[in-house]
Amino acid sequence: NPILQIHNLSKTYTTRTGEVHALKDVNLNVERGDIFGIIGMSGAGKSSLVRCINLLEKPTGGNVIFDGQDMLTISPAELRTARRSIGMIFQQFNLLMQRTALKNVSFPLEAAGVPKKEASARAAELLETVGLTEWANSYPSQLSGGQKQRVAIARALATEPKMLLCDEATSALDPTTTRSILRLLQDINRKYGITILIITHQMNVIEEICSKVAILADGRVAESGSVRDIFANP
Ligand code: ADP
Ligand code: ADP
Repeated sequence: NPILQIHNLSKTYTTRTGEVHALKDVNLNVERGDIFGIIGMSGAGKSSLVRCINLLEKPTGGNVIFDGQDMLTISPAELRTARRSIGMIFQQFNLLMQRTALKNVSFPLEAAGVPKKEASARAAELLETVGLTEWANSYPSQLSGGQKQRVAIARALATEPKMLLCDEATSALDPTTTRSILRLLQDINRKYGITILIITHQMNVIEEICSKVAILADGRVAESGSVRDIFANP
């Protein structure tokens, strides 16, 4: 069964000037182990979709089934556990500036109750996985954009997620750094079998690593399928 099923998802914002239909009957199935891309222009509904998947925003209608659980009806405790199975990667990295790379990675583990020593050891391993062992004691301000994103990826992996949700994860990076981050995500997908869901406005990101794609336009899925079929040049 798919790791993520989205059924007839809709999101309507009520504003002073009226209603905005940001998502209209969105249907998506993400299979386990996929690198699945969702591409759309500004205003297409990408952020709304991300926020509805991790339930930071309550959908107006429809269902989000993650790993067999209906995210809208599970208990708050189950929702917290489910969220820990979704590792988030952001455009602006969202690192804690007052903490070293190592502390940024050990933080979610300590928050989950892992003893300090064990959390540090595990964080060091994760930094090795993303190639940052030498930077463990550096602060985010001392790191490049690509290095910051590597710390963020190590942090996202700390809680052993089943899926990485990458929200414009390479949009703040130059083309060379983008390629190296995408290669790292591909390695993680292959090595650990983690499903990767990539939300982006960048076509090259989809072409570079995604096997499946959905095109989001004006709040709807305009097309979805394998990247090869959808973007085949006749
Ligand atoms: P994208 O991330 O693809 O740019 P968004 O999900 O941010 O798309 O926006 C989709 C539509 O919903 C846009 O018309 C946007 O103005 C509107 N929108 C997004 N968030 C809100 C909000 N909190 N309140 C009102 N309208 C919103
Ligand atoms: P807990 O630590 O109890 O599981 P949190 O609310 O701290 O709950 O985090 C839950 C999940 O939401 C985490 O995977 C985290 O990465 C993600 N998250 C936290 N802040 C944001 C945000 N601003 N936007 C999107 N996702 C977020």
